[in-house]
Amino acid sequence: MKNISVIGSGTMGNGIAHVFAQNGYNVSLIDISQEALDSALDTIGKNLDRQVQKELITEEDKNSALGNITTFTSTEEGVKSADLVVEAATENFDIKKKIFETMDANAPEQAILSTNTSSISITKIAAATKRPDKVIGMHFMNPVPVMKLIEVIRGYATSDETTKTIMEMSKNLKKVPVEVNDYPGFVANRILMPMINEAIITLHEGVAGVEEIDTVMKLGMAHPMGPLQLADFIGLDVCLSIMNVLYEGFGNPKYAPCPLLVNMVTAGYLGAKTGEGFYKYTKGSKELVVSDMFK
Ligand code: NAD
Repeated sequence: MKNISVIGSGTMGNGIAHVFAQNGYNVSLIDISQEALDSALDTIGKNLDRQVQKELITEEDKNSALGNITTFTSTEEGVKSADLVVEAATENFDIKKKIFETMDANAPEQAILSTNTSSISITKIAAATKRPDKVIGMHFMNPVPVMKLIEVIRGYATSDETTKTIMEMSKNLKKVPVEVNDYPGFVANRILMPMINEAIITLHEGVAGVEEIDTVMKLGMAHPMGPLQLADFIGLDVCLSIMNVLYEGFGNPKYAPCPLLVNMVTAGYLGAKTGEGFYKYTKGSKELVVSDMFK
């Protein structure tokens, strides 16, 4: 495998492109938005600079990684010579279904089509293609260049050969792959999201404030980040859509998203990416300031 196409150049897509490019793969980075592509290249450049400053890589490594990335605004063009596609577009089934139909029609016959979805069924996505045996989940964690885990998710029809290839490829990226089956939320989000949702319910019921809840989990459970700060970092819209997948997938009321989460997303308070969620974010400042709504 040499040619990797990454679809979607947002939070996850730029990190995935970064990691493949840094490990010597040719990367075609695709997004419908030219602005998103420009911003992704800028972010990748800055993140590589940080690695140079920390003496993790050299200036030449950085330049060769950047030289491995080509951008496209057309999926048809961007997947033409792909050995592997990693789809990291918006977490919405209809968007992903269309992308997989386009990939299936334009990528080489032997190419593996993977998705970085946080929660949508791999089996359902694979059914949009004529090669469900070559469709698999590659769930990278945020921030991709830093986090070691890749949750590798087998759909109903994913072949052993596809799974083996992706497990090996993940190790080539110096990541640790863990194979799991296709079930709502897989493993990572089945456990993480109900915890985040419960933290929001705890806040909603007035049991404790934002800082208090996060401090209990940081100091009491040795979590590097409290659940409310983590929710802001992931994006409250992403958290809500994952809770909805769990709720609908299991039909169990214990997965119902907290009304406060629903309200915050409806009102556009999506966390760090919109500047406010449980905390307020100012560009250039690392200080953690609780949102006025929760003071
Ligand atoms: P994002 O909103 O930051 O980026 C999504 C990008 O997809 C945008 O740049 C958008 O322009 C692009 N896009 C939308 N439709 C497209 C199309 N038809 N063709 C090409 N590009 C298109 O989202 P994100 O947080 O990077 O999430 C991407 C995927 O990764 C989602 O499936 C999400 O569930 C998953 N994921 C997210 C996280 C996280 O912490 N944010 C972690 C693991 C997995």
